[in-house]
Amino acid sequence: MQAVCWYGAHDVRVMDVPDPYIEDSDDVILRVRLTAICGSDLHLYGGFIPGMKRGDILGHEFLGEVVEIGSGVKTLAVGDRVVVPFAIACGRCVSCRRDLWALCDNSNPNAGTLQTLYGASGSGLFGYSHLYGGFSGGQAEYVRVPFADIGPLRLPPHITDEQGLFLSDILPTGYMAAENCDLRGGDVVAVWGAGPVGQFAIRSAFLLGASRVIAIDRVAARLAMATAAGAETIDFMAQKVYDTLMDLTGGRGPDACIDAVGLEAHGTGSIGARYDRVKQAMWMTTDRLQALRQAIHACRKGGVISIPGVYGGFLDKVPMGAAFAKGLSLKMGQTHVHRYMAPLLAHIEAGTIDPTVVISHRAPLADAAAAYDTFLKKEDACTKVVLRP
Ligand code: NAD
Ligand code: ZN
Repeated sequence: MQAVCWYGAHDVRVMDVPDPYIEDSDDVILRVRLTAICGSDLHLYGGFIPGMKRGDILGHEFLGEVVEIGSGVKTLAVGDRVVVPFAIACGRCVSCRRDLWALCDNSNPNAGTLQTLYGASGSGLFGYSHLYGGFSGGQAEYVRVPFADIGPLRLPPHITDEQGLFLSDILPTGYMAAENCDLRGGDVVAVWGAGPVGQFAIRSAFLLGASRVIAIDRVAARLAMATAAGAETIDFMAQKVYDTLMDLTGGRGPDACIDAVGLEAHGTGSIGARYDRVKQAMWMTTDRLQALRQAIHACRKGGVISIPGVYGGFLDKVPMGAAFAKGLSLKMGQTHVHRYMAPLLAHIEAGTIDPTVVISHRAPLADAAAAYDTFLKKEDACTKVVLRP
């Protein structure tokens, strides 16, 4: 089959690779109908996530048709059309039973490395390095899905592939980011990063009762998409983020700040941003955290910092003193996708959220290498690429 394989920083190739097969009795094999490139894939593409091997198959946002089922699978049948959560979860462990699916205790066969690095491992992830289990991803014609009775959600026939696809990741991720803001009604929410995750965070914040949302980015097309959702915007290249946020909030700061940027934040000319850039280039630090620093600095006293953006290492110059002095709450982590799929499908069916708004580019899987490059550079108003095998 054809699959999008990682060969190093800025080097992905569409290759002929062996088809996946049933390895455990609770696996299914899907024929992938639609898949997408995520901002998280850009961290792999940039070479910022360790534990990748040449030839690894990428992709954790995918939807497909069941073509083969393991002997132990009870809830799915050949021909079912399902969307699959990016985090792999067993459904039986303490974490899964606490609704913390992305922290599953059983789904990462390589948990030992993360245990050493972080003290404990989260769940296995599709297409996201050997640290997270080395599972082949879904940017491919076929993919093996373990724990098939637990994750995949069968889609009703009136939901199109494009409507259902983002239940795999970015829609639940934006929603959980807004839910983590602990909104009480009437709040002002600032969102750093108007990429796909930021877009769904903006829309979810309004759904959950925010009175105003302020989106911060530098890409015009993305800011326009935020405006279309009812957000106010700040272009961080043209405006001073802290000063503008204070102006917009009567000097108090936003009630909640969402960092939907993560470890590849672009600088805004500040010393902090230049410092991160130099240290990252010299492999002296793993993450660039300009957005996170600004969020902590601007958040109102007693507010919430919600971090869907991915961080991987040991962050430098985190303004922990500010967070402490202002009594901020920090919430973060991989999304517990399983928790949100059915309720968000109901929102899609009701028309309260339209996930397709973020799709800017559609391409065949064979064009994945060019699509990664366009998405990375945000050229051609590229917000989200979907690939069809
Ligand atoms: P993306 O790369 O398309 O979007 C990131 C946006 O941030 C871009 O529009 C960029 O211009 C903007 N940006 C860069 N520096 C900035 C700064 N200093 N201030 C404000 N904006 C800035 O990515 P995406 O798909 O939207 O994903 C965003 C983040 O969410 C990534 O880190 C991704 O890995 C992460 N993510 C996390 C989860 C999870 O489970 N927590 C799931 C999906 C994605
Ligand atoms: Zn993703």
